[in-house]
Amino acid sequence: MAAVTQKSVLSSVPTQLLIGGEWRGSANGATFPVEDPATGSVLVEVANGTISDGGAALDAAVAAQADWAATAPRERGEILRRAFEVLTARADEFAMLMTLEMGKPLAEARGEVAYGAEFFRWFSEEAVRIHGRYAVNPAGGSRLLTMQKPVGPTFMITPWNFPLAMGTRKIGPAIAAGCTMVVKPAHETPLSMLALAALLEEAGLPAGVLNVVTTADTAAVSEPIIRDPRLRKLTFTGSTAVGRLLVEQSAEQLLRVSMELGGNAPFLVFEDADLDAAVDGAMLAKMRNIGEACTSANRFLVHQSVAGEFAKALAARMGGLMVGKGTKKGVEVGPLITAKAREGVDELVQDAVSRGARVLTGGEKVAGRGHFYAPTVLADVPSDARVLAEEIFGPVAPITTFTDEAEAIRLANSTEYGLVAYAYTRDHARVLRVSEALEFGMVGINTGIVSNAAAPFGGVKHSGFGREGGFEGIHEYLETTYVSLNP
Ligand code: NAD
Repeated sequence: MAAVTQKSVLSSVPTQLLIGGEWRGSANGATFPVEDPATGSVLVEVANGTISDGGAALDAAVAAQADWAATAPRERGEILRRAFEVLTARADEFAMLMTLEMGKPLAEARGEVAYGAEFFRWFSEEAVRIHGRYAVNPAGGSRLLTMQKPVGPTFMITPWNFPLAMGTRKIGPAIAAGCTMVVKPAHETPLSMLALAALLEEAGLPAGVLNVVTTADTAAVSEPIIRDPRLRKLTFTGSTAVGRLLVEQSAEQLLRVSMELGGNAPFLVFEDADLDAAVDGAMLAKMRNIGEACTSANRFLVHQSVAGEFAKALAARMGGLMVGKGTKKGVEVGPLITAKAREGVDELVQDAVSRGARVLTGGEKVAGRGHFYAPTVLADVPSDARVLAEEIFGPVAPITTFTDEAEAIRLANSTEYGLVAYAYTRDHARVLRVSEALEFGMVGINTGIVSNAAAPFGGVKHSGFGREGGFEGIHEYLETTYVSLNP
């Protein structure tokens, strides 16, 4: 097989809209540039979808819905299974594309391809396990049947930080359930989604089931789709601010809605933790995806008796990471997505320092081209520092301390977010107590990664609602009809 290079993936990636099985330019022929965040250079130009393109994509999804819903579940499952296999076989190609448009190191991009593909495998197996119920009326006589049907045409809006997996997590269950869809990837990273759409076509997905509209005019193109009475569901992964706006828009048609929003994950280290394991877990929970993940550990809450040792070990590991362009061998930390994102991270660091936090490593932008930020550990971060309250979305680990379990839980829960919390402890009774007390949709115990296609991913509070993956994932795309049957 020919070597996968920047040139080879960019010369074969689709750059047009996919509407009703046809690849085409935008209605007015406009395009927008996709940039490499490591260099700022333009990779390719992609079709800039218009409001009318969005409408055409929804028309195609609506037209395809009835036939798609009637397709045999096994057939839908087999398309997903083929897509899983082809995606896995072409992991290097997808990883290269993702690294170029998003910046993450190649090894991590390969990890995302494997993770993203798992949603196709998992939901290929779920497609044939969509069950209803049969019951005798408790009063006798009639029978109570419940059936599960696809929700119908779904609009999917995905973020730039996991350009592939945030798509497969929605597309997999929608295909399995029999829903058609319009997908709008983030304009920073449309290429992975376009390549994925082409792969799904190859895997046998019928025309019109998946439509992709890339656009830099996101708000203008999305709103009419959300307000269209033919749309049945909106699923969004992105920031809480945009999620709130979309929930408002979706109220008009009382749409089914799933929201995977921001996070502010606490990472608790108790005095009985295995500290080496806690540092390993912290590296994963903090540095996965350059810290640009909704699941990123955002606040390290460490028992005061072990905080010094933990901070020193974490700073040594973070300070030793190799920062650079994600395609370069050995690089462990890529650039942040935009100059603005890097400014935001730096502001949080400078705010903490001005309030008395100590920089153990990093604490500054990396000079030169690209939006690089030095992996940073901050100790003695005061409770009023913005970095503890806001989503950092960068390679910065703020450390603060607690004195007992009750305080640890109080601090962990003192955020409007509720996506994921991590805790390191060897005390099994504490594991249960802490898991029950944490107000988060997911809890990682002695692990720095919770994401798994076989488990329900999602949050509470301002982190949103709905679950992706696990047995729960497909129900987001199913509607229940109850039949009262009088035989
Ligand atoms: P974002 O909200 O700016 O953008 C997400 C998507 O929404 C993009 O496709 C964007 O083009 C689109 N969008 C932006 N404004 C819009 C509007 N007015 N109308 C319609 N669509 C609009 O978020 P981002 O910066 O791309 O992603 C980072 C955020 O996503 C972080 O807050 C992160 O925590 C969150 N996230 C959450 C999860 C999760 O599963 N909970 C996973 C990954 C990322």
